[in-house]
Amino acid sequence: MSNDRRSAAIRRIHAIDSDCPGHFIGGKAVNGAGQVFDVWEPATGAPLGKAADATEGELNAAVKAAKDAFPDWASVSGDKRRAVLHRIADLIVERADEIAAVECVDSGQCWRFMSKAAIRGAENFRFFADRAPGARDGQALPTSGMMNVTTRLPIGPVGVITPWNTPFMLSTWKIAPALAAGCTVVHKPAEWSPYSARLLVEIAHEAGLPAGVFNSVNGLGETTGKRLTEHPDIKAVAFVGESRTGSAIMKQGADTLKRVHFELGGKNPVVVFEDADLDRALDAVVFMIYSLNGQRCTSSSRLLVQESIREAFVAKLAERVARLKVGDPLDPETEVGPLIHQRHLDKVASYMEIARADGANVAVGGERIAGEGYFFKPTLFTDAAQAMRIAQEEIFGPVLTVISFNDEADAIAKANDVEYGLAGYVWTRDLGRALRVSQALEAGMVWVNSENVRHLPTPFGGVKASGIGRDGGDWSFDFYMETKNIALAHDDHAIQKLGV
Ligand code: NAD
Repeated sequence: MSNDRRSAAIRRIHAIDSDCPGHFIGGKAVNGAGQVFDVWEPATGAPLGKAADATEGELNAAVKAAKDAFPDWASVSGDKRRAVLHRIADLIVERADEIAAVECVDSGQCWRFMSKAAIRGAENFRFFADRAPGARDGQALPTSGMMNVTTRLPIGPVGVITPWNTPFMLSTWKIAPALAAGCTVVHKPAEWSPYSARLLVEIAHEAGLPAGVFNSVNGLGETTGKRLTEHPDIKAVAFVGESRTGSAIMKQGADTLKRVHFELGGKNPVVVFEDADLDRALDAVVFMIYSLNGQRCTSSSRLLVQESIREAFVAKLAERVARLKVGDPLDPETEVGPLIHQRHLDKVASYMEIARADGANVAVGGERIAGEGYFFKPTLFTDAAQAMRIAQEEIFGPVLTVISFNDEADAIAKANDVEYGLAGYVWTRDLGRALRVSQALEAGMVWVNSENVRHLPTPFGGVKASGIGRDGGDWSFDFYMETKNIALAHDDHAIQKLGV
């Protein structure tokens, strides 16, 4: 079964490839004339295909298409936008298996997660589709002489730049609200996993999205990504990726005063107190770092465990980590697949030496898996201290760092002592402690007695080096829309008479 899925996905990828996997501009596939780069299959380490870096002319053409399409799309009724976005969701559901298989082959993510992620992509479209008719709604703010009425208007053509982890789902999360708001889009997917983005833009057009409303350009960050963020006709950039890339984009967009929304890296703590339901906590700890191959922005990559339960909890944890099923990402039984790219594998592997040199214990894993593909053994670092690099830096692989704490104050201090602030997880049965700790954590999102369970109306995003702005619910519209106030005067308010 997994072989059939792989063959079908590879056929689909090669069908895209034979177009010379260029771009999708103004409603049409466009052969890329720019420099061609290789895309590798993470599970085999073999070339999967090629993609072309957009030339400056191709990027400009995509932006022009988005600019030209903007006035019409912005004035399409919310009900019509709603209908098209629902149709996109329907087609994603119809093609969910194909999307998931392409995603597994292209990014190395496991079928057990990607089959759900494709459906989540459809849910993202449905959620924002239903909000499209009300996107412009505002407030009435009367005074004695004036009626102030606010409304929101789409900001214009926007750039969406996405990373290689769960690329399809993440793209829908950004692109669906932009389209629902009435913006037009130029999307640049990550160069290491570009294929599912092509499926999305094709589906959107099959669903009836007008030409030019949603364009997709392939390319490298330093060339195509940079040009997109510098382009004067792009009014805002929604970016998901590394914190230092976010800084670069902010600089690149400064001259054109770009509005930016950043979802960046994380080094998220999961804090387990001695009074927690330890069986459930263990399930969540394992799930939140080893799912998605550890390449997950909200992964709980730091376990802060109370000293009184450390030994017993870590012993059980080590057993579970050693038993994780690593293998073919398309096999539904597989729990951990390969890392995305040789460079990323080298980066993750480099932390083994760093951990040992700093004095941590590599309790489980700690090495590559011999053979083809970019596989790395699920790894557990124990006896780590707060100042170690493995406790501070985002490794972005199936690697968990365990640090112990003595009491609540110590837990909060350690949890906050990193540059990041995306998510935090707290395990305790003490309601007062749950409230105190979740308030004190420097994070945009905190889950208490839970893994990351996303509810689309809630805000998603980070503080500190983990991001700027929030996604989800109405927060997405705040980013993609400008708020306007219209003040209507009563005809009897006094106007100063000058020069009479
Ligand atoms: P990355 O920053 O290297 O690349 C992300 C995207 O930015 C790619 O499309 C890349 O081509 C582009 N890019 C690179 N340099 C650019 C530049 N100068 N100008 C414009 N675009 C440029 O990130 P990655 O390695 O692909 O993804 C992993 C990172 O993403 C991790 O740090 C992870 O935590 C983060 N992430 C965050 C969230 C979140 O919601 N906070 C979600 C997923 C991933």
